[in-house]
Amino acid sequence: MRAPEPAARADVLQVADRGDAVPEETVVRDCLQQEPPRLPPWLGYDAVGSQLFEQITELPTYYLTRVERDLLERHSPEMAELLACGRLAELGSGSAKKTRLLLESCLRLRETTYLPIDVDRSMLLSSGAALCSELDDLEVTGLWGRYEAGLDWLRTHPGGPLAVVFLGSSFGNTTREERDGLLGEIARSLGPGESFLVSADLDKSREALETCYNDPAGHSAFADFRLNYLTQLNHRYGADFVLDDFVPEARYNADTSTVEGRLRARTDQEVPIPGLGITLRLPRGQFLNVGYSAKFDDRQLAREAGAHGFHLRAQWKDPEALYGLFLFRRD
Ligand code: SAH
Repeated sequence: MRAPEPAARADVLQVADRGDAVPEETVVRDCLQQEPPRLPPWLGYDAVGSQLFEQITELPTYYLTRVERDLLERHSPEMAELLACGRLAELGSGSAKKTRLLLESCLRLRETTYLPIDVDRSMLLSSGAALCSELDDLEVTGLWGRYEAGLDWLRTHPGGPLAVVFLGSSFGNTTREERDGLLGEIARSLGPGESFLVSADLDKSREALETCYNDPAGHSAFADFRLNYLTQLNHRYGADFVLDDFVPEARYNADTSTVEGRLRARTDQEVPIPGLGITLRLPRGQFLNVGYSAKFDDRQLAREAGAHGFHLRAQWKDPEALYGLFLFRRD
């Protein structure tokens, strides 16, 4: 049997960083030189990292994806009405399996173009093809690059009414300062009256969060996903990290309401990273941070978005208030 032809309506464009954007190498070097050292979230998402993330979403203890899917299944029609868009851009779209629910509702109201933005080209290709084969009238243009480059593309390519969505609680994979910058970029990409739909994991007990962000017995998706950051440093920047020298773990930091994904050194580490021109020194027992997952309450989120001219129009939560979707409108 012949393989199906790739869908004609799914394109992927590489979006260039703006001239004043911080180059990728500089971002990685700066992150590694912080105390504790960390890595930017996007570094972990090559094709392997994306597949590992998909495995995480299927872990029995990882409630986030399931709760978000339920909320979208129930409330997509209402969300689509409020979004009132002909172009739906998504930051960090990944497999876009849940976004399909929203796109279906949007298509019932009007012609819709989907503009997923992601650093992993393999996911843009496969999700675009899958969506086009499932949703007859959908146009898809994948924007391959970092969030800021995708948002800049939107600013320089005006079209019909736009909405920006940010699912999977990925908005929380940032420091407070990074969120501030990102919210400013999102606000500048939208016109007055246009909407931003963002999901957020709501703050809860240390025990519940550490259970969710560590592998349950018999699984290794989180561990492999975290170790893949070291593989990326080895591949991209010619480092020689030994994966077995690190213990992957997640810890809740109550001071910042953030779950931190960590790689703790089993022995003293001194690893040159030639492509970045630095050496990472990590004494035994210290850790490299490979992922923030900030936890929110509604007021905090509304305050952060409000500082960029967004006001909250609607919100949806599951009955246990584990997780929420928040729809903001730009003033
Ligand atoms: N939204 C999907 C996937 C979440 S995983 C879901 O809810 O299941 C986060 C996704 O964001 C990954 O596909 C990753 O490649 C992408 N990503 C992370 N940081 C990014 C950045 N700075 N710019 C563009 N894409 C990014």
